[in-house]
Amino acid sequence: MNKYTKITASIGPKCEDEQILTRMISAGVNVCRLNFSHDTGDVQGAKIDMIRSVSEKLGIPVAIMIDVQGPKHRIGNFKTEGKYKLTIGQRFVFDNDDTPGDETRVQLPDADVLSSLHVGERILLNDGKIEMRVDSVSPDRVETTVIRGDEIWSRRGFNLPDTEISTSVLTAKDRADLEYAITKKPDYVAISFVQRPEDIAEVRDFITARTSHPIKIIAKIERPNAVDRITDIASASDGIMIARGDLAVEVPFEAVPAISRHIIRECRKMNKPVIVATQMLGSMVNSEFPTRAEITDVANTAYLRADSTMTSEETTIGINPVNVIDTMYKILSHADMDAIANPYDWSRVENIPENDWSRSVASMAYLNRASAIVVFARDTSACIQISCRKPDIPIVAVCNESVVANQLCLARGVFPIYSPELFGMRDAFNSARRFNINMGKLVIVDEDKISLRTLD
Ligand code: PGA
Ligand code: MN
Repeated sequence: MNKYTKITASIGPKCEDEQILTRMISAGVNVCRLNFSHDTGDVQGAKIDMIRSVSEKLGIPVAIMIDVQGPKHRIGNFKTEGKYKLTIGQRFVFDNDDTPGDETRVQLPDADVLSSLHVGERILLNDGKIEMRVDSVSPDRVETTVIRGDEIWSRRGFNLPDTEISTSVLTAKDRADLEYAITKKPDYVAISFVQRPEDIAEVRDFITARTSHPIKIIAKIERPNAVDRITDIASASDGIMIARGDLAVEVPFEAVPAISRHIIRECRKMNKPVIVATQMLGSMVNSEFPTRAEITDVANTAYLRADSTMTSEETTIGINPVNVIDTMYKILSHADMDAIANPYDWSRVENIPENDWSRSVASMAYLNRASAIVVFARDTSACIQISCRKPDIPIVAVCNESVVANQLCLARGVFPIYSPELFGMRDAFNSARRFNINMGKLVIVDEDKISLRTLD
């Protein structure tokens, strides 16, 4: 009850056992993210089953998020396994020839990418350590000049910050991964390297053609063209992840904080949950303590009233994933409680019309100093909308469908409670008490009926 900002934890080799997962979920994980860049198929399926069973045993709802790799591009192989040094000013060629490369050329295995490039655009290799500019393009050959040099070796990833790539957002691997994953009824699917709202529509069509399970789609924002279209992409999707890892390669890194603030604000207006991702407690891959900068980054995410922070390698391959969650919990709850002491002024919510329904709920709670808002959540929409007004008091979601409770785990300040039989006024009171809300006023939301009750 003293942490409103949610924790999305990436699950990987160091936390795939039942005991560790149990400790992590008890310590405050709300969403488990499974990255399909690594294991696929049955291996991921077994993890999903384990998370569901741990959550059930603990009686703590958690959301499961499948993260599909998307079109992460890689260069081809080189003649030797060693590294080649590229120096500033030299020429370098990408072509369609699978002969192993050398210091003058290498294959770009994905022909569609080769043909998407234009003169003057940049190619960034190896997390941006190498930068090249395109000098000439022909259907199967791109000539470049090296602007920033470094070492290069086989199968390095590359980013094309200036290029709109015409290929589908789902690769053949993504389709196969998704095909399998949706049989496991995940709560969320996160899509990498989204460029346009049509990408989300494509994924939604793919999913709805195969299942009636209401899977929600998170758009990972990690390309400049996605930042430019954030409003349309947010509107097409069910939530946003600020994927700062690739984003900081594709845009000037100093722009990442401004872009993050902008996206968080847009998501609030558009009623979409937003996750801030990557390197939040990155030093804890090898350390039991966070850096001062990390503590501040995590806390600032709470102060910005984002919905969720995220862990990456610090939980998947770090020395102590449980300690990472404990650490994140401490930082978030301290910041959240401090923020609540200076409550968000609902009346100044940008661009939310005065007659907006969720704004009325937040303002009723604010003016009456209510201790909680209790929502009979038939689906996720009412809770998410109220959560986006940032009322700075708990939103207790009374759910009689488990998928609704699980999905609401991502929404800031929403405390879902699931039971198939809930839905009377006594359930509202008892649910609030389950979260230690024992006195004061409750704003009760039951579809379009909003009422004020006093807990006794
Ligand atoms: P990734 O996404 O870890 O799947 O690359 C997150 C990011 O880019 O920040
Ligand atoms: Mn990424």
